[in-house]
Amino acid sequence: MADFGGGDLEAFRAEVRAWLDANYPADLRDPAVRTDPEAIWGGRAFAGEARDPQIAWMRAMAAKGWTAPAWPAAYGGGGLSPDQVRVLEQEMAAGRHRAPLASFGVWMLGPVLLEYATEAQKREHLPPIVKGEIRWCQGYSEPGAGSDLAALATRCEDKGDHWLVNGGKIWTSFADKADWCFCLVRTDTARKHAGVSFVLIDMASPGVETRPIALISGESPFCETFFTDVKLPKDALVGPVNGGWEIAKRLLQYERQNISGGFGEAGGAGGVAGDLGQIAKAYAGEDATGRLADSDLRSRITRNRMDFACLRQTIGRIAAESRASNGPNAATSIIKYAAAAFAQERGELMVEAMGHQGLGWGGEGFATPEIVATRGWLRSKGNSIEGGTSEVNLNVISKRVLGLPDLTASR
Ligand SMILES: Cc1cc2nc3c(=O)[nH]c(=O)nc-3n(C[C@H](O)[C@H](O)[C@H](O)COP(=O)(O)OP(=O)(O)OC[C@H]3O[C@@H](n4cnc5c(N)ncnc54)[C@H](O)[C@@H]3O)c2cc1C
Repeated sequence: MADFGGGDLEAFRAEVRAWLDANYPADLRDPAVRTDPEAIWGGRAFAGEARDPQIAWMRAMAAKGWTAPAWPAAYGGGGLSPDQVRVLEQEMAAGRHRAPLASFGVWMLGPVLLEYATEAQKREHLPPIVKGEIRWCQGYSEPGAGSDLAALATRCEDKGDHWLVNGGKIWTSFADKADWCFCLVRTDTARKHAGVSFVLIDMASPGVETRPIALISGESPFCETFFTDVKLPKDALVGPVNGGWEIAKRLLQYERQNISGGFGEAGGAGGVAGDLGQIAKAYAGEDATGRLADSDLRSRITRNRMDFACLRQTIGRIAAESRASNGPNAATSIIKYAAAAFAQERGELMVEAMGHQGLGWGGEGFATPEIVATRGWLRSKGNSIEGGTSEVNLNVISKRVLGLPDLTASR
């Protein structure tokens, strides 16, 4: 293991370990204990609701600023140095502590507010994100604007003392559950990229409507979102008017970094957790030497594991570069692309390893992990679309990482 520095850091490690021991809710120590799946997202829906141990855990961590450990303490964050953040992550992983909060606010919005927002906007929006009091969604895509995001048409007009928003978004993950939306709007119809602004919309505002869309996996996490004559205060706009494109791209770098970090032994959103090799042995049997009997499956599982090891190293390298410079950069497209490919391959292998049992949608003939495997495999199809498609990320890599000629105008 790497040496993380001098005595101060070791003292910090001891302090973190003791605090986690004392404050991690006993109920959460049992991996079989299930909490309300929505609780990890916090938000207004859980205001005052402290019975769920996940909410108690989120609040305990938030009180220390450790739901956003690297953010400045002035905005509720932990104010930790990069090395201290790493120690906290290591201690949480070693103790198998659950994440305190899942949050588009922590992963995507907060970092760009720190960079681009006014002091008043930071003080209004960052502390509720740290505390898990406000849940955010992302209003980027529109029916005619996905990969070509700057084609977005949702209008935002300056009405003197307020902004007026009209239009619609699509694929807005959790829009029906979110409290606020960070949103790209058009403030100039004559210019494409230079006519985009970045605004913050309270989903409780009159004129905001959401309609869920079902996914192939049977889940329905995202929505169509409609804005009809939605009035926004003048300070809802972040950065300069028509200056939203730069913020939008920056936020995508944070998004891609975070999506990649979420793929791992669990195989990404909806995947079955656990050792794929062991799971495959349970279904396909072992040979005389105790190895997985199906040699072709064995070599593909091994390759997938090696891909994961390489991915983890690359994520670590890009995270270190990000910490040592001005945040993430276009290299996040590398890990987003690779993580999607890894997760999809893992989903395929999981279903294949389970044989017929890996194609269960529901019913008594299938155990829960088998149903999760089928649905996780279907959900993984979206991995190469969300946060920018794999093709678009390859374009970004070719242009911004490899410096090849710019032949497209995509995100
Ligand atoms: C699970 C999931 C969650 C999502 N959550 C959100 C969310 O919360 N908020 C939000 O705003 N959006 C969200 N999205 C939408 C997502 O960002 C878009 O689906 C994505 O950017 C692609 O846009 P599109 O669907 O319009 O496809 P299109 O842009 O129409 O692309 C269609 C195909 O053409 C290819 N293509 C397009 N342009 C190029 C090019 N220049 N070069 C090469 N190939 C190209 C694409 O790779 C793709 O294969 C989510 C999507 C998924 C699957």
